[in-house]
Amino acid sequence: MSSSSPSYIYADNAATTPLAPNAFEAMLPYLKDKYGNPSGIYGIARSNAQAMNEMRSSIANMLGATSPNEIYLTSGGTESDNWVLRGRIEHLRKTLPPEQPIYIVTSAIEHHAILNTCKALEAYNVRTVLINPDSEGFITPNALEAALSKHDGDTVAIVSIMYANNEIGTIQNIKTLAEVAHRHGIPFHSDAVQAVGHIDVNVNELDVDALSLSAHKFNGPRGIGALYLKTTLEVEPLITGGGQEHGMRSGTENMAGIAGMEAALKAAQTSDCIERRRTLATLRDRLVHQVLNQTNDVVLTGTDAAGKRLPGNASFCCKDVDGELLTVILDKEGVAASTGSACNTGSTKPSHVITAIGITDLHWNKGTLRLTLSEDMAEIEIEELAQRTIRAIKKTRMISGMDSDF
Ligand code: PLP
Repeated sequence: MSSSSPSYIYADNAATTPLAPNAFEAMLPYLKDKYGNPSGIYGIARSNAQAMNEMRSSIANMLGATSPNEIYLTSGGTESDNWVLRGRIEHLRKTLPPEQPIYIVTSAIEHHAILNTCKALEAYNVRTVLINPDSEGFITPNALEAALSKHDGDTVAIVSIMYANNEIGTIQNIKTLAEVAHRHGIPFHSDAVQAVGHIDVNVNELDVDALSLSAHKFNGPRGIGALYLKTTLEVEPLITGGGQEHGMRSGTENMAGIAGMEAALKAAQTSDCIERRRTLATLRDRLVHQVLNQTNDVVLTGTDAAGKRLPGNASFCCKDVDGELLTVILDKEGVAASTGSACNTGSTKPSHVITAIGITDLHWNKGTLRLTLSEDMAEIEIEELAQRTIRAIKKTRMISGMDSDF
């Protein structure tokens, strides 16, 4: 490694991101002096309740919600996803007998926060309808239309389609998909955990009924997120207790987390950040080009359509490469990357996303590599990342005796 090259390169921003300086600053007072419980009636409690209302309003504004009352603060993406699905089912079960099946329509490439929740709900006679994506990871409006037409007359609790995929970065046409669901009279939820803070997300323009987000994916703190719930959507609470969040999500509020999330979202919406994201997409394209041109038998997964891929996502499938070994070698080369989603680490099964987009050949589907970049990365760092990645792919093949590069 030359002395002028960047040291360790963090390229796993889809897993989590470092805290933005303004988010850190915004959190500090609540970790120190402003410790009042917002439910109290004395000074430091009331001022925190007021601050929380202001931050909720600011988050609602930035997401295009009609009212701050549509923003519920949660512990993150997993909780938000669980809440909307379980809350819908519990609501419908109040009037529907247990023997009547209830359907959830979702996609085969969702995060496990959605897929495993659907699985758990099978115990309550919930049936999951999985829509397969096309080869670039898009859920087409026609595919959704076909799935819903097949279930006309059945009770469908909700359609849930992620905004942007965490492995391959494909961005869905959420507005059109929501329209299809609404034509069938079914509410629409989007897991926007990978989208918020990275592309423009406006719940009003998208006309979604619910949307999940998580602060640590956009340089906010871990352990805080939100669920947008349109006032017309009926869901039961997931967490019951002291009645915070209008009785919808109990538990003493995480003031520092809320402050950090609000500040991070604000930073992500500045014109400077939007401009840096545009540059990032160009640098990402260059990295993809270099990797594809300087290796053999490596393909880009997801789409290369302009504006349809998360700007920081570069994901690949490498023939005859073990993805886990590749990430270990990358780590030794000075790169933090992942194979498939972070949640799949430790599993030797091919990623469900890669399988769903049609890469089922065993020579290919274990060699997934996901590099997720940040707006803060310098051009030289991304150049160096490309070179380290190319070297690591070649080394991995050499070590495994599966050498297609030499
Ligand atoms: N949904 C998607 C698309 C994700 O990428 C993740 C995290 O990787 C989650 C949900 C879970 O979010 P959290 O880590 O905040 O629970």
